[in-house]
Amino acid sequence: MVRTRFAPSPTGFLHVGGLRTALYNYLFAKQNGGKFVLRIEDTDRERYVEGGVENIIKSLAWSGIKFDEGPFEQSKRLDIYHRHVEQLIKEDHAYYCFCSAERLENLRQKQKDKKIPTGYDGLCRDIDPKEAGQRVQAGERHVIRMKMPVSGETVFNDLIRGEVRFKNELVDDQVLIKSDGYPTYHLAVVVDDHEMKITHIIRGEEWISSVPKHIQLYNFFGWDIPQMAHLPLLLNPDKSKLSKRQGDVSVEDYRQKGYLPEALVNFVAFLGWNPGTDKEFFSLKELVKEFDITKAGRAGAVFNVDKLDWYNKEYIKKLSDKELAKIAEPWFNANKEYSIENKELIERAVGLERERITTLSELPGALKFVFVLPDYPSDLLVWKKSNRQEVAKILPELAKLLNTFSVQAWNMGKLEQGIGEWLAEKGYSVGAALWPMRVALSGQQNSPGPFEIAEVLGKAESLARLDKAIAKII
Ligand code: GLU
Repeated sequence: MVRTRFAPSPTGFLHVGGLRTALYNYLFAKQNGGKFVLRIEDTDRERYVEGGVENIIKSLAWSGIKFDEGPFEQSKRLDIYHRHVEQLIKEDHAYYCFCSAERLENLRQKQKDKKIPTGYDGLCRDIDPKEAGQRVQAGERHVIRMKMPVSGETVFNDLIRGEVRFKNELVDDQVLIKSDGYPTYHLAVVVDDHEMKITHIIRGEEWISSVPKHIQLYNFFGWDIPQMAHLPLLLNPDKSKLSKRQGDVSVEDYRQKGYLPEALVNFVAFLGWNPGTDKEFFSLKELVKEFDITKAGRAGAVFNVDKLDWYNKEYIKKLSDKELAKIAEPWFNANKEYSIENKELIERAVGLERERITTLSELPGALKFVFVLPDYPSDLLVWKKSNRQEVAKILPELAKLLNTFSVQAWNMGKLEQGIGEWLAEKGYSVGAALWPMRVALSGQQNSPGPFEIAEVLGKAESLARLDKAIAKII
């Protein structure tokens, strides 16, 4: 059975790159009737962030990506790693290293000065195991390193990149257990992927250089090696590596700004993959059907926020008034102008801005004029090809006309028709009448059209706003 995993380190929030990794692993598991496992790689205690695990789980849940097993936490599995490293020591695939931090730093500096690749020089590799054991017993500070073969090549077949080869001599004797007793990523990832029966490893390209170490560890243990796929880097539009400096990178940032999970997931799915057709909209279900890891690209994928904005706008357009009001609720609640009593009005009003907003967080601000008429200068009521006298004449007549509409007939269609007929009869230009009507109702230079606003406001409020405008202009 196919089993994939997402193995984040809890160093803060879920990065959009992490979301892509999680998504691809989830899709691959689901399309093969397999299982998707969440594993928290928290053995680097220096990088541990309080609340990091909860943040990741929350962001995954928000995105709709459900894991079947986990979360497994590596920090709770230390004895398992120790058991395995003891085996490696016994079988001479790993050794104790007593080199001090200063020695390693000196070594590094010298290598740098000589312009040769930096890495451990293997000084402790040949210490007699008996002697090494005694020094450990005596409490000497140490780490445990793997014995990387010094010649030959390590080769593997990446599902995306094809054959990848590494010269063993260039690969370090990786530390497996640190001096604090915690395993490094390299030991823990191999042991866990085996123990958790992971069949396919899908992760970011930055991990590819670790693969030769991992393959050697699999070989030392005599285990089957999972299939691997390394995803292209995510890039800023200027082709540099995606970084916080150029914009938001956490899923939580996008959630808070009012991006829909469906839009973010759809967008992220396309970072390094496309269906090879011009179909652009994919629900999670459709992605499960149509995603193909072997068609993922190798070149870096540009994180283009304009494209994400476009997706978000399109997904917002698909929502009914009720749905839009419901999902935008947290943003209305955070805005003190809005109270629970406004709920029904919010539901009626959201349609006014549905096509104009990019994110949900814009909605309360964009709709504020519906709830509180902004103060505006009387000049705003005058259309550019009209004048104050004309507005002062037309607006009271318009108010009178509007008053003749029954509450039942107070809707966009009827208003448009009735006012249209009246305009024709009077010979007023559209702009001279509808501009001041729109400004009177919205108090704004730019807004949705006057009939839509009038319908949302209702008869009484619309007439009250017209009266205010009349008082301003006369
Ligand atoms: N813990 C690693 C990370 O933070 C996981 C790498 C892997 O998937 O093997 O991304």
